[in-house]
Amino acid sequence: MALDYIFDKSRAGERLSREEGLALLREGELLELGAIAEEVRYRHNPNPWITFVVDTNPNYTNICNVDCIFCAFYRHEGEEGEYTYSVDHMIQKFKESAQKGVTTVLLQGGVNPKLPFEYYLEMVRRTRAEVPEVHPHFFSTSEILGMAAVSGLSVREVLRQLKEAGLDTIPGGGAEILSDRVKRKISNKKGSSAEWLAVMREAHGLGYKTTATMMYGHLETDEDIIEHLETIRQLQDETGGFTAFIPWSFKPGNTPLEKIIPTYATPMRYLQMLALSRIYLDNFPHIQASWFSEGKKIGQVALHFGADDFGGTLVEENVHAAANFVNKTSTDEVITLIRESGFVPAQRTTLYDILKVYEA
Ligand code: SF4
Repeated sequence: MALDYIFDKSRAGERLSREEGLALLREGELLELGAIAEEVRYRHNPNPWITFVVDTNPNYTNICNVDCIFCAFYRHEGEEGEYTYSVDHMIQKFKESAQKGVTTVLLQGGVNPKLPFEYYLEMVRRTRAEVPEVHPHFFSTSEILGMAAVSGLSVREVLRQLKEAGLDTIPGGGAEILSDRVKRKISNKKGSSAEWLAVMREAHGLGYKTTATMMYGHLETDEDIIEHLETIRQLQDETGGFTAFIPWSFKPGNTPLEKIIPTYATPMRYLQMLALSRIYLDNFPHIQASWFSEGKKIGQVALHFGADDFGGTLVEENVHAAANFVNKTSTDEVITLIRESGFVPAQRTTLYDILKVYEA
């Protein structure tokens, strides 16, 4: 396939086919891919801003019955190190975070079958009532499927009641790679690609906004990556409910999958993923770079490969930490990192509304 033709199409803002996406991934020269992705990024987001959110990622339980082999975070009930926090405990944590300037709490847990649906509803209601400074960005698709299983309610009803309690965005975790061939190997009990999509479709239908994620660098093929991008692009055509796409690489430390995949994907692969996604996902408003999962320097470089957002400040993070992957920053440092990369930092909300632009 003629790459020049695909590059021209990308520059002109024309939609790429699966085959064209695959050709870009396999044959596109990285710097050229990055340059085109940056052009495309400015078409979507013309300001020289790089947005970020002041957030935290606490976890309410690490008990989980899903046993994903890429996960170092979860424990079984009764196992050493397992925990489940009360709603009181979490609300206190959220209050402490709000005092530090946090505006978004991205809350996830394991899928703990002992927790009743009321626990989750109370978590949302009380966050809205008692910590109005923070936006609850709670519960991945796996947890929502878990709530449906525990309560006997449909996914739609679970989402409806959570919405009534005050939830209006959910994070895009749990997608990994939307290929059932891969999912059967890395997360056999987690539910299919169709189930992840069905939860997202229902959520968007009820008025939720969500993100979409992708974890690569394990057992997937190039075709699986394109399939993943194509699938979420189609759903976005249908619902328009995704705010952003966030790719990150698998972190093998302390996971069962480490025996097969002991190393991280390279920084070059990350930049390729970002650029490709910015070009391919022509209906996604934002592409998020991650200083956290790829390191600060690569996070900065990523801003020239199609990303327009630097993610969150992550006051607390436990999932990657369980895989011996720890990175810390502060709001001041994020502002400096964005400026050093040649952009204007802009603090945003979960829904990408701008709170403050840090002009030089
Ligand atoms: S990734 Fe989530 S669902 Fe899978 S084992 Fe870990 S905590 Fe459980």
